[in-house]
Amino acid sequence: MSTPCSIFFFLLTTFENMIQFTNVTKRYPGGHQALSNVSFELKSGEMAFLTGHSGAGKSTLLKLITCIERPTAGQVMVNGKNLGKLGRRHVPAVRRQIGMIFQDHKLINERTVFDNVALPLVIAGLHNHQEIARRVRAALDKVGLLGKEKQYPVTLSSGEQQRVGIARAVVNKPALLLADEPTGNLDPDLAAEVMGLFGQFNQVGVTVLIVSHNIDLISRFRSRILHLENGGLV
Ligand code: ADP
Repeated sequence: MSTPCSIFFFLLTTFENMIQFTNVTKRYPGGHQALSNVSFELKSGEMAFLTGHSGAGKSTLLKLITCIERPTAGQVMVNGKNLGKLGRRHVPAVRRQIGMIFQDHKLINERTVFDNVALPLVIAGLHNHQEIARRVRAALDKVGLLGKEKQYPVTLSSGEQQRVGIARAVVNKPALLLADEPTGNLDPDLAAEVMGLFGQFNQVGVTVLIVSHNIDLISRFRSRILHLENGGLV
């Protein structure tokens, strides 16, 4: 439940634009230009899709937002921070504001559902077991998996595994969710279910950017589509 205090804090720490790219070019060592002069903004609380063929530059764009890569030219702003000018020690704080979901969910198979979802909290330095348990259960509840804490990922269906990945992404209450082909391995019903979850998080104020090729699913949302071709937005 959001208290007036937490809503005030949310408004204080959230800028009008969650993501702003201004004339961003990314050239990899060896000279390959993955992004050319890309400019767009994603407003706080907005949900948008990112489409484009393989090699169009989608992953590079996500890597710039998560500080895995730095722009060769231009400016990348995330939640008010200019990432090109960010010192290395400030990168983890920016990453903590971002929940990332992958096509293959990247769960640790040797760890229980509970441990997988708790991981971002532990990495962020939370040690209070009761608080960790409370937050993990809240995240699992949001994705409809309460009660599965003790199971291992391999005992879950692919849709459930992806929902564990989503619980792990939201457990830290990020301001921004980035999903890289989150429904790529799911059948149409499960894919619709997972997309519905993103819609629900967006409805409570989380900014969402989803890389997807699933035009049928995308068309069910009234969200903006950013389309990349050969490193440029069209
Ligand atoms: P997408 O995610 O749309 O498939 P990418 O962002 O992965 O596209 O890649 C865009 C282009 O940049 C591709 O031509 C790819 O080969 C190139 N590229 C991606 N990563 C690297 C890298 N680390 N070094 C050199 N070239 C890269």
